[in-house]
Amino acid sequence: MPTADASIVPFRSRLLPDAEYADATIAVHAGNDPDPVTGSIVQPIVQSTSFAQRGVGDSPEFAYSRVSNPTVSALERALGALEGSPQAVAFSSGLSATTSLFLALLKPGDEVLISDVVYGGTTRLLQQILAPLGVTSRWIDTSDSSAVSRAITDQTRLVFVESPANPTLKLTDIGEVARITRARGVTLVVDNTFLTAVIQRPLDLGADITLYSTTKFIEGHNATVGGAIVTRDRSVLDRLRLIRKSLGTIQSPFEAWLTLRGIKTLPLRLREQSRSAGTLARYLEAHPAVARVHYPGLASFAQADLSARQHGAEVGGKPLHGAILAFEVKGGIEGARRLLSGVRLITVAENCGAVESLLTHSATMTHADVPRDQREAAGIVDGLVRLSVGLEDVNDLINDLDGALEAVWRRERGDGSARSGALAGVAHA
Ligand code: PLP
Repeated sequence: MPTADASIVPFRSRLLPDAEYADATIAVHAGNDPDPVTGSIVQPIVQSTSFAQRGVGDSPEFAYSRVSNPTVSALERALGALEGSPQAVAFSSGLSATTSLFLALLKPGDEVLISDVVYGGTTRLLQQILAPLGVTSRWIDTSDSSAVSRAITDQTRLVFVESPANPTLKLTDIGEVARITRARGVTLVVDNTFLTAVIQRPLDLGADITLYSTTKFIEGHNATVGGAIVTRDRSVLDRLRLIRKSLGTIQSPFEAWLTLRGIKTLPLRLREQSRSAGTLARYLEAHPAVARVHYPGLASFAQADLSARQHGAEVGGKPLHGAILAFEVKGGIEGARRLLSGVRLITVAENCGAVESLLTHSATMTHADVPRDQREAAGIVDGLVRLSVGLEDVNDLINDLDGALEAVWRRERGDGSARSGALAGVAHA
C-alpha cells in the first residue's frame, strides 16, 4: 500500500493565476499544465470522438468532440493567455473562424465595413456567400479613420480590419478606429494573423474581437490549417461556441496539438523572422529590378509613424514589424514570372508564416477571386509578390533572391548585361 506523504503535492500549473509573465513564458506554459493523471509534460492528444458519462444527469465538461475536446481546450487556453483573455475558440481553419463569426453576429439587412485590402478569401466569403443571405459589405480605406467614421450607417454591425493587410501591409490605426466604433455601437474585429499577439495586441488597443488563421505564424511549420477567435466579451464567446457546435467548425485534436506545440516557439520564431524581414526589405529596396517595397519597418513606409506606435517592442526597445513583406518587381506579370521561376531555396506557395520562406504571386494566387479592378485599386498589381520570411539564414535568402532578380533585371534592361554591386548598401544581419 502506498503511504500518504505530505511532501508530495499534486501536479499543478506552473503559472500562478494572477501573476504577470512575459509572452515567451506564456507561450511555453499556458495550456500546458502537467497531465493530472500521468504527469506528462506535453499535453496528451485526446483523439476521441466521445467521452463516457457516469449516468443520467451527468454533465461532463467533455461529451462529444464536435462541441469541445480536451486538446482543443488546451490550445484555446494558450491562445487566450497570449492576449490576456479568457479561453479562445478554435476552428478548423481561419476562414471557418471568419464564417462562424459572421454567422454569430450578423443577420439579413446588416452591413459589414471591411478594409479595402484584406485576404482574398474574406472578400469571396462576403461577396459570394454572405451577400445572397442578405448581408451587405462595403470595402473602405480603413487606414483613413475619418473614412470609417463617415461610412458607418444604422445598418453597420461590424467593422472588419486587417492590419497589416494582406498583401500590401497597409495599416489601420486600431486605437483610433476602436474609439469610433465604440462610440457608434459597432463591433470592431481585427484579423491579427500577420503579427499575432507577440507584436500587436488589438484587444488592448480597443478592438472587440481578434481573429487568427493559426495556419500561419501561430502553428508556424506549414503542417496544419486552423483558426481562432479571441475576445473578452463572454456573450460573444458563448455565441461562437453555439455556432461552432451547430456548424461543426471545431479544430481537430491532432491539429490542435501541433498548433499548441508551435505556440511554444512563436515569440522566438517571430522575433528572428522579423529581424530577417527587415534586412531583406532593405536589400530589396536597393535592388534595381524592384520598383517598390512594402514593409512597415522601412523608413520609406508611408505609415512608419503608426507602425512604430502600434507594433510591440522586442527586448531592448526596438519595435518589430513581422516577417511578411511585399514588393513589386519591374516588368509586371513577366517580371513576377521570372522571379518565381528563379528562386530555389524560397518556395512558391500560397501559405505564409512558416519556418520555410515562401513567395506568393498575390494577383494569381491568394487574390485570384478578387475582381481585377478592385484588386488593382488596392495596389495588388501584376508585378506584386509577397514574401514570407522563414528561419533560414538571411544571407542565403538574399543570395537566392539575388539570382532570381538578376533575370528580372536583365529583361528589364533588354541588353543581357549583368548588374554589378548587387548587394551594395545593404546591411546584412
Ligand atoms: N486571414 C488572413 C490574413 C489570411 O492570410 C488567411 C489565409 O491566407 C486567412 C485569414 C484564412 O485562413 P485559412 O487559410 O486558415 O482558412
